[in-house]
Amino acid sequence: MTDSETANRIRRIEDDLRRWYAHIPDLYHGAFRRLWLRAIQGRSKAAAIKCKCLDCVCWQQSEAGDCGVYHCPLYPYRPGARDREAYDIAVRRVMACSAPQEARGEADTE
Ligand code: SF4
Repeated sequence: MTDSETANRIRRIEDDLRRWYAHIPDLYHGAFRRLWLRAIQGRSKAAAIKCKCLDCVCWQQSEAGDCGVYHCPLYPYRPGARDREAYDIAVRRVMACSAPQEARGEADTE
């Protein structure tokens, strides 16, 4: 990659980050924005997960806890997660069914 291509790439990334920052609601004394800044610096995976969930529910904190997208890989980590018992039982049942497939490498698509 040439210096010019690298400079253009950096500019595109910077523009995207600036646009996204401006899109985050400036609520709770900038708490959402600070959380996102922590996430993009790679300082906190928990902050990254919380940001992704909050973005997913249009920054309505209570909505993430009520999320019903059980197949989402972030579901068990979402902010406000509660009532894990039913989810954990369902996951164990799925694991029990798919464990032989996993052992044979059939369920792995990578
Ligand atoms: S767990 Fe729910 S709120 Fe979080 S990213 Fe997935 S679908 Fe969105």
